Amino acid sequence: MKKFMKIENITFAAILLGIPFGYFFQDLALSLKVIGDIYISLLKMLIIPLVFASIYIAIAGLGSADELKSIGAKAFAYYITTTAMAVMLGIIVVNIFDPGLGMQIPQAVNGTIETKEVSVSDFVLSFIPSNIFQALSNGHILPIIFFAILFAAGSIYIHNDKKVFLYNFFDSVNDTMMVLAKWIINLTPIGVFFLIGYTVAKNGFEPILNLWSYAVTVLTALFIHAFVTLSIIAVVIGRFNPFTYFTQVKEALMIALSTASSSATLPVSIEVAEKNANIDKKVAGFVLPLGATVNMDGTALYESIAVIFIANLCGVELTLAQQLTIFVTATFASIGAAGIPGAGLVMMTLILDSVGLPVEYIAIIIAVDRFLDMFRTSINVWGDLLGAKIIDRLLISR
Ligand code: ASP
Repeated sequence: MKKFMKIENITFAAILLGIPFGYFFQDLALSLKVIGDIYISLLKMLIIPLVFASIYIAIAGLGSADELKSIGAKAFAYYITTTAMAVMLGIIVVNIFDPGLGMQIPQAVNGTIETKEVSVSDFVLSFIPSNIFQALSNGHILPIIFFAILFAAGSIYIHNDKKVFLYNFFDSVNDTMMVLAKWIINLTPIGVFFLIGYTVAKNGFEPILNLWSYAVTVLTALFIHAFVTLSIIAVVIGRFNPFTYFTQVKEALMIALSTASSSATLPVSIEVAEKNANIDKKVAGFVLPLGATVNMDGTALYESIAVIFIANLCGVELTLAQQLTIFVTATFASIGAAGIPGAGLVMMTLILDSVGLPVEYIAIIIAVDRFLDMFRTSINVWGDLLGAKIIDRLLISR
C-alpha cells in the first residue's frame, strides 16, 4: 500500500506541473497528447479480461448448485439492488446539483461532440451477444458480462475436475490482470501530466476550477447512500441497527478510507465481521470476498456522476435513453472494477464510450480522483459489510 501512497503523491505533483506545462507550452502540450492517449489505451486494454475473469471466479467460486441458489442468489440480489439504487441516487443528485453546467469547454460549445443515440429496443438487444467473439473484439461490455454470468453459472454444473481446471485458469487470469493493473496504475503520473497539459492547452483552467462542485456532488450522494438508503435496507430487511453495526466494523472502514482499496481491506473486513459482529464464518467468508470484487456501490455512484459532469462540461444534454445507458453501464462496470486504488477510473472510459463522450476528459476529474476514491472505497466496503450482516440475519431467521 505504501507504494500506492507514493504514486499518489507523484500523481498530485504531476497534476500541479501539468497545468503550467499546458499553459506555457501550449503547442508542445497539444502535440504530446499521444502520451496521454497511450495511458488511456493501456487502461482500456485491461477491461475485458479483468471483467470476464472477476465475474467468472465470483460466480464459479460458489462451487455447488445448492450454494449458487441459496446464499449466492441472496448475495447477488443484494449486490445488484443496492448498486442500482446507488447509481440511481447518483443520477438524481447530479441532475439536481448540475456541476459543470454552463462551464462548457470551448470546443464542445462549437458543437463538435456528437453523442450516440440509443433506442430502447436496441438497448435491450445490446445485452445479448449474437456472437460472443464479435462482442469481445468490439469491446461491447454488457453482452460480455451477460455471457460471463451464464458461462460461470453453467460451469458449476460440469464435472468437478473440469470445473476446478476452469476455475484455476480464470483465477490465474484474474491475478495476472491485477498485476498488470498495478503496473499501469503506476504510470498514472506520466499519463496525467500529459493529459492535464493537453486539457489546459486546449480548454484553459475553467474545467479544473469547477471540480469542487463535482466533488461536493459525489460526497453528498455517497453520504446519502451510506446513511439513508443502506440504513433503511438494514432496518427493514436485516432488522438490525446499522449504527451499532457501524461501531463494530469501523476499523475496516478506516482502513478502506486510508488505502482506497477494497481488496486490501478484505482481511480486516472478515475479521471485524466475525469477531466484533458475530457473523457466521461461512457467510462472512463468502459474502465479503465476493463483495470486495463485485459489489461497489460507491464506485458505481461516482461513475454515473462523473460521466454526467463531463457531459455538462462538454455542453452535451443527455437524453433519457443515454441516462439509462449510463445507469446500466455504471451498475455493471462497477461489478467489473478491481478492488484497488483508481480502478473506478479504468471503468470510466467504458461508460464515456458507451454514450460517445470524449474519453480524454477523464484527465479533468483525475485531479480529485484519489480524494474521492478514499470515500467511495469506504462506501464500497460498508456496502459489503452490511450485505454480510443482512444475509447472516436472513439465513438465521429462515
Ligand atoms: N478503489 C475502489 C475500491 O477498491 C475502486 C474504485 O477505484 O472505485 O473499492
